[in-house]
Amino acid sequence: MDTLRQVVNFGPGPAKLPRSVLLEVQKELLDYKGLGISVLEMSHRSPDFAKIIKTTESLVRELLNIPDNYKVIFLQGGGSGQFSAIPLNLIGLKEARCADYVVTGAWSAKAAEEARKFATVNIVHPKLERYTKIPDPNTWNLNPDASYVYYCANETVHGVEFNFVPDVKGAVLVCDMSSNFLSKPVDVSKFGVIFAGAQKNIGSAGVTVVIVREDLLGFALKECPSVLDYKVQAGNNSLYNTPPCFSIYVMGLVLEWIKNNGGATAMEELSLIKSKMIYDIIDESQGFYVSVGGIRASLYNAVTTEDVQKLAAFMKTFMETYQL
Ligand code: PMP
Repeated sequence: MDTLRQVVNFGPGPAKLPRSVLLEVQKELLDYKGLGISVLEMSHRSPDFAKIIKTTESLVRELLNIPDNYKVIFLQGGGSGQFSAIPLNLIGLKEARCADYVVTGAWSAKAAEEARKFATVNIVHPKLERYTKIPDPNTWNLNPDASYVYYCANETVHGVEFNFVPDVKGAVLVCDMSSNFLSKPVDVSKFGVIFAGAQKNIGSAGVTVVIVREDLLGFALKECPSVLDYKVQAGNNSLYNTPPCFSIYVMGLVLEWIKNNGGATAMEELSLIKSKMIYDIIDESQGFYVSVGGIRASLYNAVTTEDVQKLAAFMKTFMETYQL
């Protein structure tokens, strides 16, 4: 029986994992499916690990309905590694070596800063005073010579989330989905590259999923480290070097959990219910609760409505106690 102490966890990532996944990991830790070995000790070239990585990839493909002309690869280096990998792999698509960036918060700002090492960066809108909204896409100044257009789907720190996919008139669209990956369905065919660290919605830290359209492979700068080169990694099924085996295994279990719980559509429905529970209290608090600053509570996929009910109840009591 599961009688261990559990705290309610609204951590920003690494974040809460489904209890059933943790129990499965615990059960299989010493003896993976009767093999007498832990996934932690297993060769990444073994047939058993090949099965794990293949199943994990299939689940990503199935859950996001990924078209066949996209590769799915699992890399190390986190979301931040992709801030470098994106320009290193894609800036060579066009001679101008220029990239368009939409900067709506701390993470896209960081990505743009990193890209400046390898590219001329065009911020497509005037600098924002505060990161509270998305500048109207009709005002974006897209450079026709840009190799790609980059944005962050959900700015984890500033809380600005796109509820639409920008129309970039056929340009290669690149998206950081680190904090809302698989929290809702997405039309992958609109993107050149999507990437996401696993540690928020789909697993534990150490692995980053990269979904890349095949025609974008093979343009990496010669300075691009091989471990970050999408063509090299895709060509080796993410096994060019030792991958983060255990994190890939955990991710596979979380993806299976997402599938068994209704997939991306159900995750979105749940997310909306959970966030409404909190935002209703904020909106009705007459300024007692404001959205920026203070305490952060992340409501990632594994956070249950019961968890959120506890937070909502706490917020109500706290407000009643301290409201002037
Ligand atoms: N992008 C977003 C949207 C993030 O929230 C984060 C981390 N919280 C990152 C990128 C950076 O990811 P990592 O820490 O894995 O490098």
